[in-house]
Amino acid sequence: MVPGSVTLVGGGPGAADLLTVRALRALETADVVYFDRLAPSDDLATWAPRARLVDVGKRPGHHKVAQEEINRLLVESALSGLRVVRLKGGDPFVFGRGSEEVEACEAAGVPVSVVPGITSAVSVPAAAGIPVTARGLSKSFTVISGHDPLSEEELSGLAQLGGTAVVLMGIGTLGHTTAGLLRHGLTADTPVGIIERGCTPEQRVCIASLDRIAMTAAVQGLSSPAVLVIGEVVRLAPDAPELMRGMATLVDHA
Ligand code: SAH
Repeated sequence: MVPGSVTLVGGGPGAADLLTVRALRALETADVVYFDRLAPSDDLATWAPRARLVDVGKRPGHHKVAQEEINRLLVESALSGLRVVRLKGGDPFVFGRGSEEVEACEAAGVPVSVVPGITSAVSVPAAAGIPVTARGLSKSFTVISGHDPLSEEELSGLAQLGGTAVVLMGIGTLGHTTAGLLRHGLTADTPVGIIERGCTPEQRVCIASLDRIAMTAAVQGLSSPAVLVIGEVVRLAPDAPELMRGMATLVDHA
């Protein structure tokens, strides 16, 4: 029997045309595709014409069992001789539990490879006109998971670093994050952007100062998936209030 294989494919932030050429090639020859909630999936039948398409979208709060089950499905399919594609949102190695899937395959002796994808950490801010770095405004960006509340050390580190903070899975802990950053010394007028369903037709952008963003986001009913961007670069967004944008020009020319 021809040995099967597993390819972990990054599907990008949700727009079909942000899939890579390599991702499309892997899909073209796949026998089975296990795809996620956040991966672009509307056109999957066209991209993977030979494949059985299996939605393994994980519901928040049910990660553990689901992940073990996914690992088992990947390995079993490959051991039965199939070319397996595991299509994930963004990049497989950014909070995607990709390394666990690689380990499961390796432990079972299944050949496994990874196709990187465009991560939402950078592309979703960009879709709202926010560069994660900009000369004179920010020379670093830190990507952090807000799935669990940030620790005091993490909050203090982010506040002291002075660059851009990008929080994924950060809507549930938004109030904790903003209060913590204020407590650790970020100024109340630090601009914050939240981009919900970035790079898709449903994209929504919400921009406010650090002391007001949690309330503003609640009023607008922002929900996951969303990327939170904290820092001076947010002033460059076309959706930023006029006053915030004016200050970016001042800082820039300083
Ligand atoms: N591997 C993915 C991240 C998985 S964690 C990547 O590299 O992008 C899931 C989190 O990613 C979501 O909670 C959200 O914070 C973010 N995310 C992914 N796609 C998004 C999108 N289109 N719009 C907004 N946030 C997104």
